[in-house]
Amino acid sequence: MKTIRFLDLYSQYLRIKDEIDGAIQSVIHDAAFIGGKYVRQFEESFAAYVQAGYCVGVANGTDALEIAIEALDLPKGSEIIVPGNSFIASAEAVTRSGNRVVFADVDPVTMTVTAETVLQKVTANTSAIVAVHLYGHPCDMGPLVDLARSKGLRIVEDCAQAHGAEYKGRKVGTIGDIGTYSFYPGKNLGAYGDAGAIVTHDQEFATMARKIANHGRIAKYDHDFEGRNSRLDGLQAAILSVKLKHLDVWTDHRIRVAEYYLAELQGIPQLVLPRREAWAKHVYHLFVVRTDHRDELYAHLTDCGIETGIHYPVALPKLAAYAYLGQAKENIRVNHTDSTLLSLPMGDHLLPEDMEQVVAGVTSYFS
Ligand SMILES: *Cc1c(COP(=O)(O)O)cnc(C)c1O
Repeated sequence: MKTIRFLDLYSQYLRIKDEIDGAIQSVIHDAAFIGGKYVRQFEESFAAYVQAGYCVGVANGTDALEIAIEALDLPKGSEIIVPGNSFIASAEAVTRSGNRVVFADVDPVTMTVTAETVLQKVTANTSAIVAVHLYGHPCDMGPLVDLARSKGLRIVEDCAQAHGAEYKGRKVGTIGDIGTYSFYPGKNLGAYGDAGAIVTHDQEFATMARKIANHGRIAKYDHDFEGRNSRLDGLQAAILSVKLKHLDVWTDHRIRVAEYYLAELQGIPQLVLPRREAWAKHVYHLFVVRTDHRDELYAHLTDCGIETGIHYPVALPKLAAYAYLGQAKENIRVNHTDSTLLSLPMGDHLLPEDMEQVVAGVTSYFS
């Protein structure tokens, strides 16, 4: 029996080996390890790809969020609204930048925050929303932007799982005030180490983010304030430039895998499948199904040689890290869905027979 890998970065490397090896050699040849033309080239290509005015490369997606929030220059100690179902980084960045996390519930279909769930949490101290385009499905940005405008809030888009995703034809990250990307190896666009980026249309936010990420300076020793060191390095930038050219083809493959799963698994009443809203380009970073029999299905698929994941096993408000907030009881839906989530194998490594094996595994559990 073949093992169906949840993720297979080596098989992807083998398909683009010559390009990647050449890019790595060039960076070493030019000794362009920090800053330099490879970083600049990637920032330019990625800004063009998402159609943002500016792109600032940083060390990882968590730093991108933290620096983006700082660049907005919000009143100190603001409340910032974060979805209750996300990776902890979405909330960590709020606390680390000196603000207070307020968790909001998510929409049952898209698993993302909406204007309604956010509005329930807005107070006089709220200054921003972290809109996470979770699993690769964009948030419903129109109503969120209207809400933000009427309440004077900023929107940070966490696009760590949504490279290439679109809301009504616009790439995510450019619809709110500032957007952040992670290029962690397992993301849809992944480096060979840590990497991240901030995108925005606002020149002031972009300049501020660049300074914060580079010791409070633009030129060599004119430090305007104390910043930090969070840089995208040349090797990662060169690798990302190569991979960016393949991203749309890989995304199309993810969509084909998703459409196959959706068609083949639709008749199972105990299984809730992910749904795509009509206005969304969903890039399926994860294909998350929901079932009350999650642990049994997980064990059965493991027996069938199918690797799965759980995103995320404990809703953020229930984590020990957030016990001090006392919000574990409030966000009813988020807190009850975490035990039902299961992520099926997804990615450009999946062959037709792999997809069939996944479907056969799931179907055999329920029959
Ligand atoms: C991966 C991820 C991050 C953090 O990115 P890193 O590059 O690992 O720091 C932030 N938010 C979400 C939703 C993520 O999935």
